[in-house]
Amino acid sequence: MLELRPNCECCDRDLPPGSTEARICTFECTFCASCATEVYKGACPNCGGNFVPRPIRPAEKLVKYPARTERHVRAAPCAHRMV
Ligand SMILES: [Zn+2]
Ligand SMILES: [Zn+2]
Repeated sequence: MLELRPNCECCDRDLPPGSTEARICTFECTFCASCATEVYKGACPNCGGNFVPRPIRPAEKLVKYPARTERHVRAAPCAHRMV
């Protein structure tokens, strides 16, 4: 089951379970669409794999299978991070 991480590892923007902006790699490194395409050019900076759109988990399934809440942000500076 997908972890559905709550934020972009680069710019730390929120990526809720219903977001169409979330992109994940095979290890579920999670980024927003703009960081995945503009900052990383479609290759995951952690593992080198490609990104795919994260499937949306229907709201009624989130009751039994909730999304993760712990945020994770990469130590490396992100060009898109809001300061
Ligand atoms: Zn981002
Ligand atoms: Zn990765």
